[in-house]
Amino acid sequence: MQGLRFVCQAGCTKCCEVSGYVYLTEQDLKRAAAYLGMSARSFEKKYIYRTKHLLRLRKPCGSQCHFLEKGGCSIHPVKPLQCRVFPFWPEKIGSPAAWWEAGRMCPGIGEGPLIPIDGVMRVANEMREAYTGMYSRPSRVTG
Ligand code: SF4
Ligand code: SF4
Repeated sequence: MQGLRFVCQAGCTKCCEVSGYVYLTEQDLKRAAAYLGMSARSFEKKYIYRTKHLLRLRKPCGSQCHFLEKGGCSIHPVKPLQCRVFPFWPEKIGSPAAWWEAGRMCPGIGEGPLIPIDGVMRVANEMREAYTGMYSRPSRVTG
């Protein structure tokens, strides 16, 4: 495989609306708190659910994410890594079938320029390294 085609579509927020959790790195937490003029502690108290190995955003009633607004993500410049690198998650680029499945939800998949596979792998590995609590098992993503 030479690469994958993807370009995010203007006005789309589908990946923020699907059922699932938004995980954050410690850096994500600090950046989002600063962007909102809050202390990391206050931000965590209000928005974060922390387990032994992971941090994730709490979900508000009737929505998947506190920060999803009509015009898009209200913390766009500092959104968590998993949001920034979607759809190049290790589990989505791990096989053609998984990529195709992701394309059923994301209209940007299959569009735009061909992104070289080594760049795609770099992004996926960035996610793997940032979320060690999530990707602790061996995987097919290398490079
Ligand atoms: S679903 Fe795809 S096209 Fe839509 S906002 Fe998310 S990444 Fe962009
Ligand atoms: S943080 Fe922003 S980009 Fe991520 S799911 Fe929430 S609204 Fe979407």
